[in-house]
Amino acid sequence: MEKIVSLCKRRGFIFPSSEIYGGLNSCWDYGPLGIELKRNVKEAWWRSMVRERDNIVGLDTSILMNPQVWQASGHLEGFADPLRECKSCHQRWRADEVARDTCPSCSGELTTPRMFNLMFKTFMGAVEDSTSIVYLRPETAQGIFVNFSNVISTTRKKLPLGIAQIGKSFRNEITTGNFIFRSREFEQMEMEYFVKPGTDKEWFDYWVKERLEWYKRLGIKEEHLRLRPHATDELAHYARECYDVEYLFPMGWAELEGIANRGDFDIKQHSEHSGKDLSYFDEESKQRFIPYVIEPSAGVDRSILAFLLDAYEEEVNNGETRVVLRLHRTLAPFEVAILPLSRNPKLVPLAKEVYASLRRSFRSEYDDSQSIGRRYRRQDEIGTPFCVTIDFQSLEDEQVTIRERDTMSQLRLPTKHLEETLKAKLDGEPFDVLPPGATVWKP
Ligand code: ATP
Repeated sequence: MEKIVSLCKRRGFIFPSSEIYGGLNSCWDYGPLGIELKRNVKEAWWRSMVRERDNIVGLDTSILMNPQVWQASGHLEGFADPLRECKSCHQRWRADEVARDTCPSCSGELTTPRMFNLMFKTFMGAVEDSTSIVYLRPETAQGIFVNFSNVISTTRKKLPLGIAQIGKSFRNEITTGNFIFRSREFEQMEMEYFVKPGTDKEWFDYWVKERLEWYKRLGIKEEHLRLRPHATDELAHYARECYDVEYLFPMGWAELEGIANRGDFDIKQHSEHSGKDLSYFDEESKQRFIPYVIEPSAGVDRSILAFLLDAYEEEVNNGETRVVLRLHRTLAPFEVAILPLSRNPKLVPLAKEVYASLRRSFRSEYDDSQSIGRRYRRQDEIGTPFCVTIDFQSLEDEQVTIRERDTMSQLRLPTKHLEETLKAKLDGEPFDVLPPGATVWKP
């Protein structure tokens, strides 16, 4: 974990928030490379959940909502963790994370557990009193439930229907830590899948499988993933059944994503509390019912941490250590780096020309700053799958070199085939399938 934290800081993926003031506990800022990675993770989720499906639509709802939402959803009452405080040093602990009655930090006596609500409160408008209290949402799901009728009536879609949302959530966690694994402000990717009661079990199994596959497709090793069913006494107040997709983090197996069968809990609660009929009329069976909901709920930040951990490798070649981030090509901040051999004025125009044409199709970076070896190492460390090198020979034979991150193999090819070749390689074509007029070199 320390290696990832240090790489993230050094290369500009993730910085501690408000660092010049000493930071703010468990808050993090995504830097120039981190934001690209984050956008790619969210895009990969959105593509697989919304764009590639006929019956899932998106939504972007506000973080602040009418407080009655949280009354109805049960969060005001039940969204709490058991807390114990040390009577000597006053440090607070989550009761389920301390094994004994003594403080893990100073061995002082701990209080008996009391429930601590995790919702952040703030005030809306100029007056700060009990009537102006609003909450920062602790999950994005409720924005979806309260819009169920709006979406059904405007899209005229039929069940099963999914509604997806990506956005910030806030939880005043008792303990935070393990870098971006647990923070108080984080981002979620949630999808509520509304189905006919009776078909929920089948859809639950379907989504558990789909979500597990998504992580594998994007490069998480199979042996680092597992499914863990929740025991009955562990289920959230709204859930009938729940599976966690767990990842083997350096601190042990921990939740990446929760997949829950929320039954009709939420729609029923919002119907009762709002007085609006949120039931669904099924044209086919001529029945009216409250749909059941299957919810895959993933963390953006936890996914990013897992992708980084799984991609990180230190490789020894000829006595030298190479750090390489084997990120899946759809997640890597840059797909291709364009590197002239040097800043020699004869090379720059051609290199800039190649850059200008590639950046239209690929996430590209141009770098002419240091020795070519150092620039390759930097691109390896930030996960760029391909580098394109322009050298003096290129000026004569109109050929350039593509270097592959994972094997360090190089392919020399006519510049006119560069774009189509990169596209094919980024789509997964093996590196040693050669375009016309190309040669390959392996280290
Ligand atoms: P945990 O048991 O780890 O506190 P949870 O069961 O409360 O998590 P859910 O309510 O199921 O989490 O939230 C869905 C997803 O949102 C989690 O799988 C996780 O990826 C993400 N998430 C939840 N809380 C946090 C947090 N404090 N920091 C970062 N991500 C979080």
